[in-house]
Amino acid sequence: MKDIDQMFQEAVVFHGHSCPGLAIGVRVAVIAREVLTAGRAEDEDLVCIAETDACGVDGIQFVSGCTAGKGNLIIHNYGKQAFSFFNRATGKAVRVAVRPEAAMDARDPEGWAARMAVFAGTATPEQLAAAEASKERMIDVYLHGPQEEVYSVTMIPAPEIPKAKVQVSVICAGCGEPVMPARAVERDGKHFCVPCSEADHLKE
Ligand SMILES: [Zn+2]
Ligand SMILES: [Zn+2]
Repeated sequence: MKDIDQMFQEAVVFHGHSCPGLAIGVRVAVIAREVLTAGRAEDEDLVCIAETDACGVDGIQFVSGCTAGKGNLIIHNYGKQAFSFFNRATGKAVRVAVRPEAAMDARDPEGWAARMAVFAGTATPEQLAAAEASKERMIDVYLHGPQEEVYSVTMIPAPEIPKAKVQVSVICAGCGEPVMPARAVERDGKHFCVPCSEADHLKE
């Protein structure tokens, strides 16, 4: 496995900026791969269920190979910095979450207040500098902090996850475009895509 700093720098290129959330995703994916002894998921052996749709998800996708497009990244957005991984080959599963005391507002309240001022657009030059320093500190904590201090790592029962299905598409009676059958809406024996079925609904 590559050095975590190198992985993070590469993930920054993919994600578009450097941030603590991305650092969480990268570290969590590294921990999960170690625990589940999986390489980068080339197929669907490794599955991730993310409990957030924020920055961390990109770190997960980049390092674990669990991606939205392959269907082995499932997002249940509960607004939590927590990610469960399941290795289909071994049946083993683990949940990795940021510990409450390692959350940014708890770990670095002053830096957090400065970041809030930046987000609100009211930051003084001192607060801008403090927010930037806090961001760098938290990236370091999430990438290099002692695992037992920063993350809770719990083996969990294997979740039931259906394999991504490949199906023959149906043609929407509204727009004529192909639609996955599982996403099509049936009305009066005809198939519609969701946008057409909703537009149709508005006309009624
Ligand atoms: Zn980000
Ligand atoms: Zn349509």
